[in-house]
Amino acid sequence: MMNYKEILENIYKDIQPYSKTGEQAGYIPALSKVNPDQFGMCLCTIDGCDYAIEGADVRFSIQSISKVFALAMSLSVMGEDLWSRVGKEPSGTAFNSLVQLEAENGIPRNPFMNAGALVVTDILLSVLENPEDDFLAFVRAVSGSDDIGYNVEVASSERETGYLNAAIANLLKYHGSIKGDVEQVLHFYFLMCSVEMSCRELAKAFLAFADHNNRFCYSGVSLTSSQVKRMNAVMQTCGFYDEAGEFSYLVGLPGKSGVGGGIVAIYPLRYSVAVWSPRLNAKGNSVMGMKALELLTTETKESIF
Ligand code: GLU
Repeated sequence: MMNYKEILENIYKDIQPYSKTGEQAGYIPALSKVNPDQFGMCLCTIDGCDYAIEGADVRFSIQSISKVFALAMSLSVMGEDLWSRVGKEPSGTAFNSLVQLEAENGIPRNPFMNAGALVVTDILLSVLENPEDDFLAFVRAVSGSDDIGYNVEVASSERETGYLNAAIANLLKYHGSIKGDVEQVLHFYFLMCSVEMSCRELAKAFLAFADHNNRFCYSGVSLTSSQVKRMNAVMQTCGFYDEAGEFSYLVGLPGKSGVGGGIVAIYPLRYSVAVWSPRLNAKGNSVMGMKALELLTTETKESIF
């Protein structure tokens, strides 16, 4: 049996040289106020053990990690039809890029870039009776934490300066890819991004994706093991903005990052792991988080490759 606790503690020591590299996501005013010198990490195995270090129980803004939960909900309702509204190819462009969207007639490359997530948000608004409550209920159920919530202050701070996301949403609307009201889509999208969770809660939630032999059914969101396997494939190819190739190369696990500094990854049928540190690299991924996961799979020799 791997001594994950000791491995995580050693990783934390080894990544200290990177502790001042990078900056918080300054384009979201509320996130630029977060203390950048924080770190947490938690690994949960599918046989029910947790290994946590440092600030593993400190909640932070999950940002784009929410796109995995939104995709799970929309796949549960729409099944394969979902893929007629959004693609599943890596973009190789920044998460908030407009360029491909214009060239590809408003069909976003994948659900993990902002354009794709805005389409998924539009779908959730059209199929769910109480989208805001249903989303939280699902996130709470899959992570086993009843008091997870939105941070309305972060969501409105992002809306105030969210010119690029508003431009993307308007372009999607122009192409008919968003059916509902643009302002409502943006509001719900920013709200989902503002959800706050700890590394332990994220690792618990993502165990559901790691353990795809188990039934995936939480608060009415239900996926077949084949759908979970395919979500993992999309995380592998599209989960890290225009650094998905680099993450595959360095870490070798499917996962998703967010500009709050969190990264979650899974080793199918073995474990899920969440790491958080707010300082980001130029692509928007946590510097210490990526380094920690690289060391984890190098040290344990556990990766999908
Ligand atoms: N709310 C952020 C945005 O739309 C999420 C970005 C991210 O975490 O990748 O810009």
